[in-house]
Amino acid sequence: MVLAELDVIRPLLVCPRCRAGLEADPAGTGTGAGAGAGAGAGALRCSAPDCAYHASPAFPDVAGAPVLVDFEHSVVCREAVAALASPAHVHRGADALPTPLRRIAKPPNQVAAVNIDLLLRALPGPAPTLLVVGGATVGNGVEAVYRDTRVRVIGFDIVTSPATQFVADAHRIPLRTSSVDAVLVQAVLEHVLDPAQVVAEIHRVLRDDGLVYAETPFLQQVHAGAHDFTRFTASGHRYLFRRFEELAAGPVAGPGTQMLWSVDHLVRGLTRSALAGRATRAALFWLRGLDHLVPPDFAQDDASAVYFLGRRRDREMTEEEIIAYYRGAQGSS
Ligand SMILES: [Zn+2]
Repeated sequence: MVLAELDVIRPLLVCPRCRAGLEADPAGTGTGAGAGAGAGAGALRCSAPDCAYHASPAFPDVAGAPVLVDFEHSVVCREAVAALASPAHVHRGADALPTPLRRIAKPPNQVAAVNIDLLLRALPGPAPTLLVVGGATVGNGVEAVYRDTRVRVIGFDIVTSPATQFVADAHRIPLRTSSVDAVLVQAVLEHVLDPAQVVAEIHRVLRDDGLVYAETPFLQQVHAGAHDFTRFTASGHRYLFRRFEELAAGPVAGPGTQMLWSVDHLVRGLTRSALAGRATRAALFWLRGLDHLVPPDFAQDDASAVYFLGRRRDREMTEEEIIAYYRGAQGSS
């Protein structure tokens, strides 16, 4: 995995409250669990004297990762930062299965792989910077991002991980305006309270003509308990990224995959057992193959998830344009 060193990206980091630069906190060694451990950059504070995060304790660190969160405006609590290092927070169930079962439960995401290839080819320069929002777990089909030695990868999440350099809340990304060339946000926007604000932050941190790749569920059951809030149709997802030019968009997976989710959760409800649900899903894995028989316009109306690959623009899509955008199988009458 090619992940930029924290020291290398440190000049890009800003205060999540006021966006002033960061500086070493002369009074602190971090206040979280594991403070001072690992390869952390030491305790950080906001460099603006009138900011609340200038006074100590400013930003704690956990297992060597700075926690750059505006705690008064986040689901992340200062009092609970010690728990951010707990692997219990990573809850993508299929990852715990043996490899053959994992490939059945969670087959490679070929749509993501194709789109990530498009994104990487379009990235300019010898050392483009790519930000992974919600990157604690390497996403399905996006592994090429971490293998491309040309790309400087920056990752953050609300928990620590070997795939991230710092902890942050996507509603207030602690990076300078126009500081990254691309953003990857896969299966994340359903887990934030205000997706429009998060996309506005993605737009802010991207350079002019910067690229974004997003995958977001449409018809999926709740899958992260208290941290699951929103779903998007293809049109809703397009409008969420209304200040971006579309390069590609469509369903990640269609009604067969959607039915697998539904059967899994029906069985869970009948048996009160998540294991029974997952076992049923594994036994009916072939339903996913039916996606290939459904044309894109029908799949769009019944997608398990949708994707959007776009280029940053300042102009917004109009109301007329989003109505004309619809590509599903249903007529206007
Ligand atoms: Zn500040």
